Amino acid sequence: MNLLKEKILEEGHVLSANILKVDSFLNHQMDPVLMYKIGEEFAKRFEGEIITKVLTVEASGIAAALMTGLVLGVPVVFAKKKKPSTMDGAFFSGRIHSFTKNETVDIVVASKYLKSEDRVLIIDDFLATGEAAKGMIEIARQAACHLVGVGICIEKSFQDGGKQLREIGVRVETLVSINALTNGKVDFV
Ligand code: 5GP
Repeated sequence: MNLLKEKILEEGHVLSANILKVDSFLNHQMDPVLMYKIGEEFAKRFEGEIITKVLTVEASGIAAALMTGLVLGVPVVFAKKKKPSTMDGAFFSGRIHSFTKNETVDIVVASKYLKSEDRVLIIDDFLATGEAAKGMIEIARQAACHLVGVGICIEKSFQDGGKQLREIGVRVETLVSINALTNGKVDFV
């Protein structure tokens, strides 16, 4: 997706060989026009599939997921990183380790928002080690949903999350893939 590539080149900051900062349009301040186009692009990539729900994890996946749900006309559920005291009743959960924050959290979704008849599209901002995606896949598995696929805004293909997901047969669609982050520069695939 050229628009996203251009935005990364203009405004992204390479923090280290592993981390790209995109705070000005995706992860802190958000560009609604770009996010809407991202939603349209995911809807196009998964055209022909029946999707009844979009699933993401708070917070940075929400914008892309919400726009995708808007274009598809389906509800969006985000997994919470802390089980709220108001979440009574059954829930599904998955454990994820964030290498950017160096912390492990249990993500949760109230069971009333994912049903076995749902056909789920998982959306997230980045794919690195695949922990977040695998945690959400685990939640979809507990809910006995059909997993349509995973849509990722930025895949860092030098980390092995994408490889792991594809190896287990998950359809992964990424809008932009990065080969390497070297000498402060983004090297796209
Ligand atoms: P994974 O679970 O695949 O290792 O990483 C995905 C999650 O970590 C994403 O939800 C994203 O929030 C965060 N993340 C991973 N790599 C980066 C990165 O290079 N930059 C930023 N800003 N977030 C990242």
